[in-house]
Order: sequence, then structure tokens, then C-alpha cells
Amino acid sequence: MPVPILFMDMRSNRKQNLFDKLGKLYGRTGFGKGLEKDDLVALKLHFGETGNITYIRPQFIRLLVDLVRKDGGKPFLTDANTLYVGSRANAVDHLEAAVKHGFDFAVVNAPLVIADGLKGKDYREIEVNLKHFKTVKIGSAVCDADALLCVTHFKGHEATGFGGALKNIGMGLGSRSGKQMMHSDILPTVDAQKCRGCGHCLEWCPTGAVKLSNVAGDSVVARIDEGECIGCGECTVTCSYGSIAINWKTEPDIIQEKIVEYAWGVLKDKIGKSVFISFVNNVTPDCDCCGWSDSPIVRDIGVLASVDPVALDQACVDLVNAERGLAASRLGAKTDTPDKFRTLYPQIDWSRQLEYGEQIGLGTRDYTLVHIT
Ligand code: SF4
Ligand code: SF4
Repeated sequence: MPVPILFMDMRSNRKQNLFDKLGKLYGRTGFGKGLEKDDLVALKLHFGETGNITYIRPQFIRLLVDLVRKDGGKPFLTDANTLYVGSRANAVDHLEAAVKHGFDFAVVNAPLVIADGLKGKDYREIEVNLKHFKTVKIGSAVCDADALLCVTHFKGHEATGFGGALKNIGMGLGSRSGKQMMHSDILPTVDAQKCRGCGHCLEWCPTGAVKLSNVAGDSVVARIDEGECIGCGECTVTCSYGSIAINWKTEPDIIQEKIVEYAWGVLKDKIGKSVFISFVNNVTPDCDCCGWSDSPIVRDIGVLASVDPVALDQACVDLVNAERGLAASRLGAKTDTPDKFRTLYPQIDWSRQLEYGEQIGLGTRDYTLVHIT
């Protein structure tokens, strides 16, 4: 039976602005009805890496916070620390980065809690007994929360084709060591012909695996020490010259399956207490973990909501692929491509995360869109 996916487009007028529409969308999810008084509600989002500007506007988050409060919940905004060095690798940096992007109590009316603590070591091992993992390591604050409102910026992703709700909770709420376990199938290599020796990738590598070496004459190029690389993949998106390629030690599908197993671990005790809202706006080719925001590949489409993250991600992909691509984006002349994410990332079959999610019972790919006007 198809799962209903609530959908609001981005049209607005003097009678109904986008906040009115988002409030209506939230109300129709029924999330508030499932809350008990004083339930602690984890509102999972991505605060955006410093330099990125396409994270969800704090003003929309404020609206959702106020609605959760009205429904009796006690919301807090949360995300887990990153594996790479960046501006969100520990709770202090992470909170500072979030506040710089407007996620401050004065704006969002809720406290920020980094799910896996100061240094990413505050996690719970949750039993899942699935293909890749027996247990997964999830940030404690989310495990202890009574309910989950997952708010996602839907966009492309260099390791999974697209980044949607499954990735937001699976990779996003894994502790730093959990993230490392999910990434263990990536082994990037540097193309010495393209490398300019700028050293930028060194700054992002969490293990010091990237080194600069002298080659002929005075020129310097990066190289990756395979023994030290933990496969976090950050260097691959850091290089502005396209010098670092992802090579997969195993099938590219495996990282998607691992993320889905983490998502299962997050949701296992929150059946009936989780809802997913995805913003399909500013659909950039890269993740918000990147310290930049490239031009969107399609026009702003709208906001979708569901209790089923698999169906929701499928609907978001379908809506993006149904649009004509923007030529002034990384798609270039390929505006008519039927699959924008495969065009951006030909090595990656993004559908594996949805198939696997369906296979392990996390949701269904069968949905019907319900237009909220
Ligand atoms: S791989 Fe890219 S980021 Fe790293 S040193 Fe070479 S050009 Fe710079
Ligand atoms: S070299 Fe390995 S560990 Fe370092 S940033 Fe790249 S993928 Fe991550």
C-alpha cells in the first residue's frame, strides 16, 4: 500500500506565506498527536559546515520548534560531530559553527545539544543484528530522546549519490567512531598530474594520511598513505582541482547499506515517535558538510514530510529527476538527463540505500504525493 507523502510547493502569497504552509504540513504529519507532555524531542538537522550557505534557514526551524512546544514537547536541536577535521569535529567548534549560522537560542527558541558529546565519545551501542553490523554507535542524546523530528536538506552527495533523510539520521547520528565504521570501504587516490600541491586536503584529513611529497624539480604533490587512511572521504570533496578520486575497496553500495543499518539503529525504539521533513530547495551537487555551496542543479521544488524515510527519499529523488536541470550548474549541458544524481556521480547507484531500507523493513519505496495547498 503506498505511503502518503505530504508535499508543499514554494508558491506563496499575501494570504498564505511559506511559514503558514510549513505549519500546515507539520500539523498534517500528526507528529504532535504522538507526543506526551514533556517528551524530549530531538530535532535533527545539519547546521552546515562553515562556508556553506545552503543549510535550512533557522527561521523555519524556529517555527517547527514553536509547534513542537505547543504540542507539549521539549525540543532540542541536535547533530553529531564529524569525522573530518572541519569546523564541527568537537562539540565546542560545532556549537560555535551552528551559532554563526543563526542556530542560536535567541533565534530558534531551543537549546542545541551535540548528540555524541564533547569529543564524539558519548554514544550508545544499539543492537541491530544486520548484514554489516551487529551493533551501531549512536549519539546518546538521540537515544535518550523520546521522539525524533528529522529535518533534512535534500541534495547531492559524493559518496551516496544523494543525501536525504536516511543519510541525515544514519550517517548524521552515528558517533565519530561509528562514522569511521561506515566509511571503511573508501580509499581515495591522488592524480599527481592534476595536483597543484596547494595542501588544502591536508587540513581536512583527520588522520594525517595525506602528505605532500616532492616530485621532479621543485613541484610538490599530495599522496595518501593507505595505512593511515580511514576512508572518511573528506579529501575527495576538498580538492578544488578534482585531483582526488574515490576508489572503493568494495562495492560503492556497501556504504549505503551501512548508513541504512545505522538509520535502523536510530529508529528502532522510536516507531510511532518519528517524523521526517525534507526541504528540496537549493539542491546542491555536494553535501552541506562541504565548506562551500555550488549552484543548485534544479529550481526550488518544495518541502515534503512523511513517517517513512525510505518513501520520503524516493519521492525527493523522483521530484528532482522530473525537473529540467539548470545549465548554470555542475550538470552543464546535461539538463535533460533522466537521472541527475547518476550524471553527477556515475560510479554510484543511489537506489541501493532505498532498496536496502525496504529490504530490512525500514520503509517502502511505494508512495503517493498529497499536495498541501
Ligand atoms: S590533491 Fe588537491 S587539495 Fe590536495 S594538494 Fe593536490 S591540488 Fe591541493
Ligand atoms: S586521506 Fe583518507 S582519512 Fe584522510 S581525508 Fe582522505 S579519505 Fe579521509
